[in-house]
Amino acid sequence: SGHIFDPVRHWERSDPGRIAVRFGERDRSWAELASRVRRNATAQVAAGLEPGDRVAFVDKNHPACLETTLACALTGTVNAVVNFRLAPAELAYVLNDSGARVVFAGAELLPAIEQVRDELDTVERVIVVGGEHDAYEEFLASGTDTEPGHTADPGDCFLQLYTSGTTGHPKGAMLTHRCLAAHSAAAAEAFEFTRDAVNLVAMPLFHVGGTSWALAGMSRGCETIVVREVIPEEILAQFGRDRVTHAFFVPAVFGFLLRVPGVGDHDYSSLRCLGYGGSPMPTPLLRQALDTFPVGFYQVYGMTEASGVFAVLGPGDHRATGHPERLTSAGLPVPGVEVRVTDPATGAPVADGEPGEFQLRGELVMAGYWKRPRETAETIVDGWLRTGDAGRRDEHGYLYIEDRVKDMIISGGENIYPAEVERVLVEFPGVAEAAVIGVPDERWGETVKAVLVLADGATLTEHDVVEFCRARLARYKCPSTVDVVESLPRNATGKILKRTLRAPYWEGRQ
Ligand code: AMP
Repeated sequence: SGHIFDPVRHWERSDPGRIAVRFGERDRSWAELASRVRRNATAQVAAGLEPGDRVAFVDKNHPACLETTLACALTGTVNAVVNFRLAPAELAYVLNDSGARVVFAGAELLPAIEQVRDELDTVERVIVVGGEHDAYEEFLASGTDTEPGHTADPGDCFLQLYTSGTTGHPKGAMLTHRCLAAHSAAAAEAFEFTRDAVNLVAMPLFHVGGTSWALAGMSRGCETIVVREVIPEEILAQFGRDRVTHAFFVPAVFGFLLRVPGVGDHDYSSLRCLGYGGSPMPTPLLRQALDTFPVGFYQVYGMTEASGVFAVLGPGDHRATGHPERLTSAGLPVPGVEVRVTDPATGAPVADGEPGEFQLRGELVMAGYWKRPRETAETIVDGWLRTGDAGRRDEHGYLYIEDRVKDMIISGGENIYPAEVERVLVEFPGVAEAAVIGVPDERWGETVKAVLVLADGATLTEHDVVEFCRARLARYKCPSTVDVVESLPRNATGKILKRTLRAPYWEGRQ
């Protein structure tokens, strides 16, 4: 079952003249967008790309990324959207993993790509997007405004987004046409995306919070505003100027918005839906947001492997209900999604109110990780997607996230797996053992701390360790503090006890 996901063709027929995408000063109608998508698709065919081939997109937010994703769906190729914050070596890893033959790279990202150009095994061509030497428009001009004539299957991969992993290497989550169709239908219903909605997309397009949020709005014919990067005061002004109705931000960005001087003085009269999620929302920040923006608030509980959102706490549960505790809930599963709570040791479902791991199933669950059958089988068990999050479901079906089973840090909405940082730290001369934990941070929610055991007689400085990491890892993954200890707490099998290490920093907090 399931559908082909093709919002552009539909809205080009139904409402060709209406604005589909806005980027800065530039608007494009559905007819224009559809024509650009066809040109991109036929240019890909002319460049020799075949169904199943990957292309990659690395840039800050740009509408060409959405055009490329949609174009790939017309030819059977797949856009792997890559995190632009990655360090050059990480970028090379992901591009090689994807097997991309063509890379669309923002002008600002070109130096990083050139630095590792020799290490890229599959890339035949780099197409610069934006800047003085923009080659994207030329690429479109090499195509024609015709259908490439490929027929997609609902099970074909539509989009590939990378998530990090416990093994320390990013993995490509394959989201199919069926996934995006199911996700968009559920999200459109949950957030009430209607044809007159204006959807602001400010989260990065390499995350589901960017691309899937945008596609959900597009599925209902909404106008999509692509924001290049988060500049808090500009976003506040844009709400009123562009008559924005819908927007989604991670909690850290809500923090930035609320700290802008004069945040209460802007025009929020067009807003209908503000979504937040991706990491835990501190309740004081949520209360402040509710007081500042007199609109419907939606908590979004989502995951890349679920194509985006799979549970929502709606506006009715945010303001003056008989259930104040629900402010800390991640809400109810969206239509078409089943959630269960299981004992992480045995995998058996537990009773309502009992703690366990959240698992979900539904058409929005990914097909698997690109070229990683073992990790796929560990993550999707008997059709259920393991979230790695721990919590409870109450007797009314509300989900409460309490902890993580997976060893993951979320800093400013970006996930960090300690293993990938530890792998770099043990390369530093004089480091015998390394453990990485998340500690509370006012701005980012959590920040990275390295706890190191040194080799006999070795010495090091925090500054040198941080610099070493910065040369090898995306900045948000680098430790902001370094502790040196005599030994790390370990269990009988030698596993580092992360909870014991973290405990002193989290005392008195959630
Ligand atoms: P990602 O795949 O990057 O979207 O990360 C998914 C993970 O982010 C989830 O498994 C949770 O650990 C976390 N997460 C997502 N939404 C929320 C939320 N509303 N509250 C707390 N944590 C969240």
